[in-house]
Amino acid sequence: MEDLLKVHNLKVNYPIKESFINLMKGKNNKYVHAVNDISFNIKKGEILSMVGESGSGKTTAGKAVLRLIEKNMIQGEILFNDRNILKANKDEIREYRRKAQMIFQDSYQSLNPKNTVYDIVAEPLKVNSMIKESTELNERVKAALVQSGLPATNYFLNRYPHELSGGQRQRVAIAGTIILEPDFIIADEPVSMLDVSIRADILRLMIEQRDKYNVSYIFITHDLSLAWVLSDRIAIMYLGKILEIGSGDEIIKNPCNPYSKALIDIMPKMGIKKKGKKLLIEGEIPSPIDLPKGCVFHMRCPYAKDICREEEPTLQEISPEHFAACHIL
Ligand code: SF4
Repeated sequence: MEDLLKVHNLKVNYPIKESFINLMKGKNNKYVHAVNDISFNIKKGEILSMVGESGSGKTTAGKAVLRLIEKNMIQGEILFNDRNILKANKDEIREYRRKAQMIFQDSYQSLNPKNTVYDIVAEPLKVNSMIKESTELNERVKAALVQSGLPATNYFLNRYPHELSGGQRQRVAIAGTIILEPDFIIADEPVSMLDVSIRADILRLMIEQRDKYNVSYIFITHDLSLAWVLSDRIAIMYLGKILEIGSGDEIIKNPCNPYSKALIDIMPKMGIKKKGKKLLIEGEIPSPIDLPKGCVFHMRCPYAKDICREEEPTLQEISPEHFAACHIL
């Protein structure tokens, strides 16, 4: 499969403004190092999950890829169909945003409460001046709703977000995304606020979009078992780094980095036979303002050695397309 997106050495640093007094004392501005030099690719029609705790940088990485973060905070290269998005002008960014869309975790926040379902789903086409004829616009809105598993009736088109269930709101958000026929969607914890019974339907809808229209996804989640069910590949993230990346089966059945092993040990087993003791990690993810020297995981890793506190491990190929970063591989 051909690469749709190639990301090289992506870094996102948010400046923290020091108070005037601290600046007078000679204290410089500090930065939150939210994404810390990651590289990955996504093929056409592929689903890549980014998995990690809060503070792992997965959402920031997704937003940076869509250029939803100010350009001066992003470093590296983001190639979409071989064009560098970080060097794109306004028109090129507008064009990119038609092809690359985002589904947010909280559909209640992401949908304008004053707009009807019709207005919400039609808006992306109107904003992008893609359709002038109202008949065609109506047809496209109805088709997007049906594709998203919703009724295209006048009654439903005139509902407001607060009149819908959580699952219906998320489907409306998806309809407003797919109406632009994107090549690529970033779904940021799209089912984490939904009832378990509705989650499977939304995930099935995403897979259907991929299968029918060859849409590529970055699926951002803290739930490794969901990532395994849904995705082709999984990237395990910690403190702005990718510690391991590979096919879902490789990551779950043959994890190499201790952090990946610990995440797998706490997920529901779903038929995996685990040998040996469970690996439990304690403590909290460290501050992304003062990144630890060496391996970013060394402060919580039960196997940390002297070298881990000094040298950062780089991703090594374990088997075809399976890479892990760790000094004890
Ligand atoms: Fe643990 Fe060292 Fe491997 Fe980091 S490099 S995961 S600290 S063993």
